[in-house]
Amino acid sequence: MVEARIAFTSVGKRYGKLWALKGVTASFQQGEVIMVIGPNGSGKTTLIKCLLGLVRPSEGSIAVNGSVIGTDPAYRRTIGYMPQISQFPAALTIGQLLDMMRDIRGLDKVTTKDELITSLGLDGQLEKRLSDLSGGTRQKVSAVLAFRSGPEVLVMDEPTAGLDPISAGKVLARAAEVRDNGGTVLITSHLMEEVESLADRVAYLEDGRLRFLLPIKEILERTGQSRLAKALPAMLEVHETESAVG
Ligand code: ADP
Repeated sequence: MVEARIAFTSVGKRYGKLWALKGVTASFQQGEVIMVIGPNGSGKTTLIKCLLGLVRPSEGSIAVNGSVIGTDPAYRRTIGYMPQISQFPAALTIGQLLDMMRDIRGLDKVTTKDELITSLGLDGQLEKRLSDLSGGTRQKVSAVLAFRSGPEVLVMDEPTAGLDPISAGKVLARAAEVRDNGGTVLITSHLMEEVESLADRVAYLEDGRLRFLLPIKEILERTGQSRLAKALPAMLEVHETESAVG
């Protein structure tokens, strides 16, 4: 059997008395896109932060490419991350930030994948200071940074928020390419229509627990719906009945 790219085993994260995540066991494979959804406060960000090593689980473990993540951050080189809100050093220009991040990540100038700079229209703005950028332009810079190292794992938190529809389409198309090249892509988004065509499976979180992790196709089949936005509420009802019976 092919080893899971990412494996969560009984992962829990507690903040004081609150379990932001509890008992999460799930495997994510090579060459798939997982849409992570759930109500506000259900633990989506905490799950992502645990994977990125920004938050340490209170219990359980997470393995990436078969190695349990611990204190050594080396595994993060394989991960491209597009946060919901990027914190950039305000005094730098876009160009300076891109150069600095390339050097920190030890990327080769020639092979660095920077086609998104042009396709998102950033090449004429490289001299602009990061402090002066609009929200949408910050998102574009963030997308370039997430993709340029050719990540094996791509984590995107609300990637299209603030982007115009054309740019959003380009970013999602690049995410599909990462998947097609064997990458594992985790996306959180409120805009189901936008990502449902891209995603293979849905991970649904509620109160820190993984309620289900299923292929979109199966969710649509089980509920008899053709779109995820309608299928999800039906799915949650079915599950409630199932657990009430079980
Ligand atoms: P989501 O991303 O689904 O909105 P989060 O993972 O951000 O959910 O949060 C899950 C729960 O954990 C929420 O109740 C939130 O208030 C709580 N939480 C998240 N981060 C912290 C923190 N640093 N300190 C205390 N509580 C937190």
